[in-house]
Amino acid sequence: MSEILDNYLFDAFANASENTFIYVCDMNTGLSRWSKQAVKFWGLEDEYIEDASAVWIEHIHPDDRKLYTDDIAAVFEGRSEQHNCQYRAKDRYGEYVWVECRGSVIKDADGKPTVFAGMMTRLDNQSKYDELTHLLTGTELLRKSFDDSGSLMLIGADGLRNINSRHGLRYGNSILKYLADAIVDNSPGMEVYRFRGDEFAVYGKNVSVQEMSKIYNKVNRICGDAESAEGLISFSASAGIVQVMPKDNAADMISKAELSLLYAKEKYKTGMSIYSEEIEQKQIRKNTVSETLLRSIKNGCKGFYLVYQPILSNTGDTVVGCESLLRWNAPNDAIGNCYPDEFIPILEKNGGIIEVGNFVMREAIKQASIWQKKYKQFSVSFNVSYFQLEESQFVPSIIKTIDEYGVNPEYITVELTESVLNVDTNLVKKSFEMLKSKGVKIALDDFGTGNSSFWTLHNIDIDIVKLDQSFIRGLGNSSTDIDYAIVESVGLMCNRIGYKTVAEGVETDDIWRMISKFEFTGLQGYLFSRPVEIGEFEKILTKYSMEK
Ligand code: C2E
Ligand code: MG
Ligand code: MG
Repeated sequence: MSEILDNYLFDAFANASENTFIYVCDMNTGLSRWSKQAVKFWGLEDEYIEDASAVWIEHIHPDDRKLYTDDIAAVFEGRSEQHNCQYRAKDRYGEYVWVECRGSVIKDADGKPTVFAGMMTRLDNQSKYDELTHLLTGTELLRKSFDDSGSLMLIGADGLRNINSRHGLRYGNSILKYLADAIVDNSPGMEVYRFRGDEFAVYGKNVSVQEMSKIYNKVNRICGDAESAEGLISFSASAGIVQVMPKDNAADMISKAELSLLYAKEKYKTGMSIYSEEIEQKQIRKNTVSETLLRSIKNGCKGFYLVYQPILSNTGDTVVGCESLLRWNAPNDAIGNCYPDEFIPILEKNGGIIEVGNFVMREAIKQASIWQKKYKQFSVSFNVSYFQLEESQFVPSIIKTIDEYGVNPEYITVELTESVLNVDTNLVKKSFEMLKSKGVKIALDDFGTGNSSFWTLHNIDIDIVKLDQSFIRGLGNSSTDIDYAIVESVGLMCNRIGYKTVAEGVETDDIWRMISKFEFTGLQGYLFSRPVEIGEFEKILTKYSMEK
């Protein structure tokens, strides 16, 4: 026991301070004592430290050590009364935190220094609470150690960025507050954090993932009621949930919950998913594919190439054109086969679609110039993602490339999937007008899968409707009267309006026979040919005697 170190005053001050750390040193013995918060925060071994200056100097940022030692020396050598300096010190996670350290030396009756005591105050991130929602911050969650089992949920408002840009930040903040209240009200006895931006975290001790998912459902319902309850716009929330075991690391659990949240958003647009090894594997593959795609792009789109699938006249005996479809040979064996349905969404997300899209456009037009020399009325189409239209240079570069290769624009078709047409219709309209004024044809791809089919037909000037292959392929099953009705009416309707139509997914003779009376302008499907490389395609061209 040391009277200097073990007294009620130290205990009282140490307990009262949250973001301030107290220390006192008995200069006769060299032993010092640090408040419990300091021990935890800085990751010290014990409250009592033998040679504190040697231990502490290791925590101080190398660039700040001289500043610190000079200041301390001045106090200890009697040149200064007060130790007072600001420096960076390493916390228990190895991260540097700015602190202000103040201390003073107390001398005995003979003038001999006996006590050195003081406190350290964190200068950054002092508040544990988020200003907007008054919830604990994400930093606090990261510092958490799990001592029990339970579950952790990350939950976020969908499309908050859109809400912010449309209605302003203040409105976005009201949405966040509304969501925060909904979470707090429905998770009694649990810890709720504003993890970051639009994401909140809920930790429930002894709460199962199933119970946590019920909380998500309730919160999501409340978000959907935002309009009637508060006059805000209704919105949805997505969540990722992970089971937590004692001693699990907070950062690991957060990243698992985040991964599950991302999975839910990507797979279902909105919704909830519970962490599993399988989700993690899928997410890991996605990351590997994404990084490898970007590497291929950096290497001049190495590994990307086009295959061509013939489009036949409605009689099925002449190839009238083709669709260019992208393929990618991943330079990484671990990836194996990777098709557009997998890699296009990844390219759209990581931004690679812009460069790859340019590559596709150039390759397709270049190939069209070769085939058009032989077959004057041969159409080549290529797919375009909405994101490419957002690049102001994209449409002008299509026109430039057409001129560069001397291709007849009447026989170039741009295919755009319908599901993206409800993003910024003005942008789409403007892009299409520019292309159409050049003579380029516009096809609406995968018709029937989006949620604005008829609206699109009514409002956007297009040339060709490509009915989604799922409807056509559905005709192969005897039980699909609905598919039959859809195919029939789309065929009739387009004929009536004067749009050309292409039936995709014609896989069998039976299907072909069934659709023949609907007068589709073009036929495309495995029955005639799968997408093939140039050499193979030229054999098909010869077989299906294209008029020269
Ligand atoms: P899509 O544009 O609707 O292309 C038709 C897809 O259906 C192709 O798949 C084609 O191989 C497949 N298909 C054609 N006939 C049949 C059939 O009879 N049965 C079956 N089961 N499938 C058939 P692919 O090449 O895997 O492409 C999938 C999607 O990826 C394309 O659908 C398109 O949306 C996208 N995509 C492909 N290439 C590009 C590209 O260069 N740029 C962009 N943005 N998207 C592309
Ligand atoms: Mg297409
Ligand atoms: Mg399609």
